[in-house]
Amino acid sequence: MPELKPTNLLGLDLQELSALVENAGQPEYRARQLFEAIYAQRAETAQQISTLPQDFRRSLQEQGFEVGLPAIEKKFQSTDGTVRYLMSFADQQSVETVWMPEGDNGEAGDGSEAGDQAGDARRWDRGTICVSSQVGCAVDCHFCLTALLGVKRNLSAGEIVGQVTTVLKDQGVWPGRDRINLVFMGMGEPFLNYVNFIKAARLLVQGVGIPESRMTVSTAGIVPRIHDFGREPVRPKLAISLNASNNETRDRLMPINRKWNLEMLLDAAHEFPLRNRERLTFEYVLLNEVNDSVNDARQVVELLRGLRAKVNLIALNPGPGIPFATPQESRVLAFQQVLVAAGIPAFIRRPRGRDIYAACGQLKRTVA
Ligand code: SAH
Repeated sequence: MPELKPTNLLGLDLQELSALVENAGQPEYRARQLFEAIYAQRAETAQQISTLPQDFRRSLQEQGFEVGLPAIEKKFQSTDGTVRYLMSFADQQSVETVWMPEGDNGEAGDGSEAGDQAGDARRWDRGTICVSSQVGCAVDCHFCLTALLGVKRNLSAGEIVGQVTTVLKDQGVWPGRDRINLVFMGMGEPFLNYVNFIKAARLLVQGVGIPESRMTVSTAGIVPRIHDFGREPVRPKLAISLNASNNETRDRLMPINRKWNLEMLLDAAHEFPLRNRERLTFEYVLLNEVNDSVNDARQVVELLRGLRAKVNLIALNPGPGIPFATPQESRVLAFQQVLVAAGIPAFIRRPRGRDIYAACGQLKRTVA
C-alpha cells in the first residue's frame, strides 16, 4: 500500500472544513464541531474529538487526517520566567516560540499578590506569546541573529496557529479565562509570508478566541503589504521596526531600506487606517553610538510628526557575530526623554529571557 501523506486539519478554516465534511457525507454542523475541537479545545488527534461519531473519526484517520500540532523539541526556562520553545514540524524544520508570563510577581498593578487566586494552583493568569512566521529570515538586518540563518521556508497557517495552541496547552492557560497577548515578532518576516500569516491571524481570532486587539504584528517595512494589511477586515495591530533616524543609517543596518526607504515607509504609516484609540507602534533598537544619540531622537520626532504612534525602545540584545554594542542606560534614558518631551509616548522594553537566548533578535535555534 502506498504510504499515505498526512493531511493536517490545523490550518483549515471553517469553509475548508465544511468541504471536507460534505465530501465525507456528514451533516454540515460537523464542520463547526471540528473547528471548535481543533482551535478552541486543542484536540491532539481526530480520535480525541468526542463530539464526532466514532465512524467519522475513524474515517478521518483512515484518510490520513491528523491535527498536526508541532512537537516541542526543547524547552529553555529563563530566570525571569520566560520560556523559549524549540518547535519542530513534520519535515523536521524547526522554529522558536517564546512564552513571557506576567502577573507572577504581584506586578499586575491591581494590588493582587502572586498566587492570590484562592484555590488556584496556576502560577500565571496572563502572558504574551511571541510567534514565528518563517523558518529563518531573509531580511538580513545586521543587528539580528535570526538573519544569520537565512530563510529556509515559510510556515503554513497551521504551523503558525500550532505554535500558539501548543504553548497555551503546555502552560495550561485558556484565552477567555486568562489574558493572552500575541506578538508576531519571532523568527521571520510575517509580511513576506503574508497570506499564511493573515489566515493564521483569522483562525486565532475566530477559532482560538484571542481578540485582534491583543495581537500585534511587526514588520521590517514591507511597504506594499502594509497597504494591504490596512484593508484587512480582521487584523492585529501594526508595529514597524524603524531602527534608524535617517536613510543613510537605515540603509546600512537594514538593507531592505534600499528597496523601501523611510519616505515610502512613513507614507504607508500615514495612510494606515487606525481603529478607534489604536496607535501604531515603532520599534527602535538602540545601538551604541550608531543610532542612539539625542540628535537621532530629535530626527525620530520629526519623522513621526502627525502620526498617532508610540515608540518601543529596545537596547541591543547582543549576540555572537553581531558587530554592535548595547548602549549605557543613561543614553537610553536620554533618547527616551527627547521623545517624551515631544509628546510621543516612548517605552523602554525590558529584555525577556536574555539568559536563554529568547530576547528580541536572539532567536537562532540555540540548543545548548
Ligand atoms: N521581521 C519582523 C518581525 C520580528 S520583530 C520585524 O523585523 O519587525 C523583532 C524585533 O526585534 C524587531 O523590532 C527588531 O528590530 C528587533 N531586534 C532585532 N534584533 C535585535 C537585537 N539584537 N536586539 C534587540 N532587538 C532586536
